Amino acid sequence: MRLILLGPPGAGKGTQAQRLVEKHGIPQLSTGDMLRAAVKAETEVGKRAKAVMDAGELVSDEIVNAIVAERIDQDDCAGGFILDGYPRTLAQADAVADMLAERGMHLDTVIELVVDDKALVGRILKRAEEAKAAGQPVRKDDNAEIFDERLREYYKKTAPLIGYYYANDLLQQVDGMAPMDEVTAQIEAVLATVAS
Ligand code: AMP
Repeated sequence: MRLILLGPPGAGKGTQAQRLVEKHGIPQLSTGDMLRAAVKAETEVGKRAKAVMDAGELVSDEIVNAIVAERIDQDDCAGGFILDGYPRTLAQADAVADMLAERGMHLDTVIELVVDDKALVGRILKRAEEAKAAGQPVRKDDNAEIFDERLREYYKKTAPLIGYYYANDLLQQVDGMAPMDEVTAQIEAVLATVAS
């Protein structure tokens, strides 16, 4: 099963992706996590991405497409994967379609977590507080000011994917404001209707 989780920052994509990993045994491919790992390791990609990520803007399509193309060729992706935070632009959506077609694969579904914007900044600040309390590093972009920019980027560049996938008959929407377990149940209900 190959699916995309779509939604603005703080919508719960990461949390739901982790639950899907556990239940379905397929990996979560989070471009945000991969880029943060590259920044930490100070690779060439990490060096190019760092300032852009800290500002809450999007890293270039070229960089993220290359990261994903390399990742999906790894053995653990043979049985499917969950794309979390990718694609984020129409060019990335075209790129992933091409990548999959070249490998004789296709997307099974795109699940949008539909959320109320006003609740999002609160969720992000809570995530930062929780990380801090647990002694974990707090993401540099998890603060109110940068969050505004991340949300603007989402509406400008990522939200058009909703129409794109609707037109491709792949879009499914779930209520991302429902309690976490309910969101998981809605996602599972969608997955039960698509081919594995
Ligand atoms: P995330 O962890 O998904 O919130 O991503 C954190 C940051 O990484 C974003 O604000 C972007 O700067 C960058 N990023 C992650 N995924 C992508 C992507 N698909 N395209 C461009 N930039 C990305």
